[in-house]
Amino acid sequence: MSGVKLVVGNWKMNGSSAQVRAFADLASRDWPGCEAALCVPHPLLAAAQAAFAATPLRWGAQDCSSEEEGAFTGDVSARLIREFGARYVIVGHSERRIGHDETDGQIVAKVQRALAVGLTPIVCVGEKAEERDGEQTAMVLRRQLLQLVRALGRDLPSIVVAYEPVWAIGSGDAAAPGMIDFTLGFIADTLAFHAGAAASGVRILYGGSVNRRNAAAILSRKLVAGVLVGGAALLPADFIEICKTAARCSNLETSEAA
Ligand code: PEP
Repeated sequence: MSGVKLVVGNWKMNGSSAQVRAFADLASRDWPGCEAALCVPHPLLAAAQAAFAATPLRWGAQDCSSEEEGAFTGDVSARLIREFGARYVIVGHSERRIGHDETDGQIVAKVQRALAVGLTPIVCVGEKAEERDGEQTAMVLRRQLLQLVRALGRDLPSIVVAYEPVWAIGSGDAAAPGMIDFTLGFIADTLAFHAGAAASGVRILYGGSVNRRNAAAILSRKLVAGVLVGGAALLPADFIEICKTAARCSNLETSEAA
């Protein structure tokens, strides 16, 4: 697998076309060792395409429909997202699992729809605080991954998995390095157990209160292929600092993480 670290910003329901342009102005140079992308609200995809096409930044969306097209008022198809040059789409974020009652089955259908049009789905998994406290983290992750692995088969390496503990999102408290090692290891083992060699191509990210101060400690963990960043991805200087850190950490891939 490539040692290039992936840094993906999730703007959630924030941002503006002016902010898209501000990012483009700062992101004119490449960071070898880091691939950076911003997942913007659907109405900003055209602005992202116009502004980022001439930069190393890639762009994506935060959700797509599980349906190809038709009478689904308010939903957005994967095909339309792809038409705006998007590379990524976040699927199964906890704010959609919880706030929109999305099931594992619906998430698998969205992933398949995204793959069918050439988007790379970033599939979010992670436990709630009460599940962590009840020592159910492994059980929750296994449940969130199993249908996906079984449905995707040989397509598995085309997805990215993001471990985002729900309790860490927006809290200011990222998971501790030991917890990140344990959960990402568990995810990698679960994928390998059910999918064999195909699993080794899956990039696994960490997300939840990543910022410019803790980015190095997280990105230098051996199993962390990148980060999914919410709040800090709204500030161009912070996001770019995280990208530079990712580029530096990509060179640490073979040394033991601190
Ligand atoms: C997210 O919601 O995907 C996220 C990682 O948010 P934050 O970085 O703000 O915790």
